Amino acid sequence: MGQSWQIGRVLGIPLRVHVSWFIVFALLSWSLSQGYFPAVLRHVPMWQYWVLGIVAALLLFVSVLVHELGHCIVALRYRIPISQITLFIFGGMAQIKREAPTPKAEFLIAIAGPLVSVLIALGFWGAAVFPGAPPSMMAIAEYLMNINFVLAAFNLVPGYPLDGGRVLRAGIWAWSHNFHKATRYAARAGQGFAILLMVVGLYDVTTGAAMGGMWFLLIGGFLFSSAQNSHRQVAFQESLAGLRVGDVMTPEVVTLQADETLDQAVNRYFLQLGFGGFPVMANGKVAGMLSLRELKTIPREEWPNLTVGQVMTPHAPQSEIRPNEPITAAMDRMLQEDRSRLVVTEGEKVVGLITRSGIARFLDLTQR
Ligand SMILES: [Zn+2]
Repeated sequence: MGQSWQIGRVLGIPLRVHVSWFIVFALLSWSLSQGYFPAVLRHVPMWQYWVLGIVAALLLFVSVLVHELGHCIVALRYRIPISQITLFIFGGMAQIKREAPTPKAEFLIAIAGPLVSVLIALGFWGAAVFPGAPPSMMAIAEYLMNINFVLAAFNLVPGYPLDGGRVLRAGIWAWSHNFHKATRYAARAGQGFAILLMVVGLYDVTTGAAMGGMWFLLIGGFLFSSAQNSHRQVAFQESLAGLRVGDVMTPEVVTLQADETLDQAVNRYFLQLGFGGFPVMANGKVAGMLSLRELKTIPREEWPNLTVGQVMTPHAPQSEIRPNEPITAAMDRMLQEDRSRLVVTEGEKVVGLITRSGIARFLDLTQR
């Protein structure tokens, strides 16, 4: 995705600026100072057009930021944490950590952004018609009024991941009581709109309006891939629903003994069986896990002198899971603990092993 920098915090949320933001900021300031302002304000020195262009571009990004904050304030009211707000080439993106708990919450979080944009537009409209306002201020206010209306309208297009698509999802979700189905339909609508944008862009490019056309193509491409990603994600979550650890685990577990040397373990198990890691037993209980990750940190000459027990990652309650737990719990656990395998236990007994690659293989085979 490329480099981004944190420039501060708003409402406690880290605010980041992506490298692509600078490109669009420069382009926008340039086109405003060369096109829009010279057209609406006559007899002004060139440097003033540049100042106006930069001020207007900055105010646009503040507008985008406040739009995102609109989403965030409602999300925070529902106690949904927000990891960060990023300003990038296509505007702003608030990364909300969890999905909304109810269709109503989804609707309110989604609609808050466009609503804020409309309010900002009305504010600039007030500034534009303010009696005795200097012409340069009127020109800036008029531009920002228009662009904020456009922002609200564009975001209300009912295709996920746009705000309007989230509103659509909330509606289908409320009506069908099926979150996954709602996401699927809203994402399909988003892909449809994205294709439309790209067709318009292609038409513009071929008929000579290359700049605007390229822009449509870029936004269309971006929307298409984000809609496609959420579609895939839902399909993936649906295929996991109902699966238990016991369905996916490897039931016959080969275990190592803590007092074996690394040399023995490598020759007898790692090389022979080709697995990436093994549970380690000591006195009939799970004592830890030895995987290639730990082995790689030990120089080969040391292998005959060290035992498995000395090198293994010691066992912790977080590294075991029960067979009747949902597979999603196992995946969350692996992610949180940065482990690629968990021991499946029933009481003191080891009944299986579940690994990231095992889950991937299982899904690969069952989804065909
Ligand atoms: Zn929005």
